[in-house]
Amino acid sequence: MQIHENFPLKPYNSFCIDVKARFFNMFPSVEDLEENLMIYAEYPVFILGGGSNILFTRDYEGCVLKNEIKGMELQHEDEEHVYVKVGAGENWHQFVLHCIGRDWAGVENLSLIPGNVGAAPIQNIGAYGVELDDVFWSLEAFHVYERRVHTFTRTDCEFGYRDSIFKNRYKDEFVILSVTFQLRKKPIFHTSYGAITEEIEKMGEKELSIKSVSHAVINIRRSKLPDPDVIPNAGSFFKNPEVPNEKYEELKAKFPDIVAYPLAKGTVKLAAGWMIEQCGWKGHRKGDAGCHDKQALVLVNYGNARGEEILELSDKILRSVNKKFGITLEREVNIV
Ligand SMILES: Cc1cc2nc3c(=O)[nH]c(=O)nc-3n(C[C@H](O)[C@H](O)[C@H](O)COP(=O)(O)OP(=O)(O)OC[C@H]3O[C@@H](n4cnc5c(N)ncnc54)[C@H](O)[C@@H]3O)c2cc1C
Repeated sequence: MQIHENFPLKPYNSFCIDVKARFFNMFPSVEDLEENLMIYAEYPVFILGGGSNILFTRDYEGCVLKNEIKGMELQHEDEEHVYVKVGAGENWHQFVLHCIGRDWAGVENLSLIPGNVGAAPIQNIGAYGVELDDVFWSLEAFHVYERRVHTFTRTDCEFGYRDSIFKNRYKDEFVILSVTFQLRKKPIFHTSYGAITEEIEKMGEKELSIKSVSHAVINIRRSKLPDPDVIPNAGSFFKNPEVPNEKYEELKAKFPDIVAYPLAKGTVKLAAGWMIEQCGWKGHRKGDAGCHDKQALVLVNYGNARGEEILELSDKILRSVNKKFGITLEREVNIV
C-alpha cells in the first residue's frame, strides 16, 4: 500500500485552503478502508469525500482517507420505483445525470450539488424544494470501532434540515460505503420553489420533463452561486435558522422586509443571507477572505486566505447577526 506523508490538501477542498495531512490515502473498497484504519489506528482519521463542505483551519495531524468506492447498480424495481445502489465515492452530479439519462425521477432538483454520494446523507443535502430524504431508501456504513458493516433505513438516519444522525449521535463513528435510492418511474415535479417554472419558460421548453427541470436548476444555480473552480467556496456557510412564529412576528414588526418561509408545526425559516446582508457583510473582503458580493450566505477565498481567516470572518458575522436580530446562526460547513 502506498503511503503519502505531508500530503497537500489544497486540490482536495473546494475552499482551496493550503494545508497538509500528516498521512493521506484513498480507499476503493471496504477492505482497503479496514486496512488503512488498522495501519493508522493510533492517529485521528478524517473521511474525505469531494471536500465541498469543509473548512480546514490547520494542518491535519492524522490520516485523511478519501472515499473512492465506485459503482451504480440497479438493485430491483416494482411498478412505481427503481432501487439503485450507489458507491459512496461516486460524484453526486454524475449520479443525477445517470438517473436523468434513464428517466428515473426524484433527484433532478438536486442537480449540480458538488461533492460525493457518500456525504449526501450526512447533512441530508437539499435544494429547490427537495431533500435527499425524499429519495433515500437505505445506506451501508462501516463502524470504525466495531469494524463491521451496518445497514441504516430512512428512519434510522433521523434526517432533518441539513442534519442526520451522522452529524450528531454517530458523529465520526461511521464511514458511509454506499447509498440506495428509491427513484420514481413516473415523475412528480417540484417546480414551485425558486424560479424553476419561469426558467423553463425562458428556455423555450414546451413540456415539463426531468431533463428540463434539471436544466432549469443548473441555469439558476450557475447564475446565483459562485463556481468554486473560479472563486473557491463551500456553498452556504450558515444554515437558515428556524424560529417559532412568535419570534418571527416580533422580528417582522421591527424589520418589515425580513425574508422568511413558513414551515409546518408553527415555525418559520428565516433567510440567513438576508440578515447577513442587513448587517453590511455582503461584498465585504479582508485580505483574501470575503463574503460573496451576490450571495451573502457564501463565504469565499479570493486567493490565499487561510482557513482561520475565513473562520474569523464567520465569527464576526455570527456576532453581528446575533446583535442585530437576536438570532444565533449555525454553521453548515464542517470546521476541521
Ligand atoms: C458551490 C457549492 C454549492 C453547494 N450547494 C449545496 C446545496 O444546494 N445543498 C446542499 O445541501 N449542499 C450544498 N453544498 C454543500 C456540499 O456540496 C454538500 O454538503 C455535499 O454533500 C458535500 O459532499 P462532499 O463529498 O464534498 O463532502 P466533504 O466536504 O468531503 O465532507 C463533508 C463531511 O462529510 C463527511 N464525509 C464525507 N464522506 C463521508 C463518508 N463516505 N462517510 C462518512 N462521512 C463522510 C466528512 O468527514 C465531512 O465531515 C454546496 C457546496 C458548494 C461548494
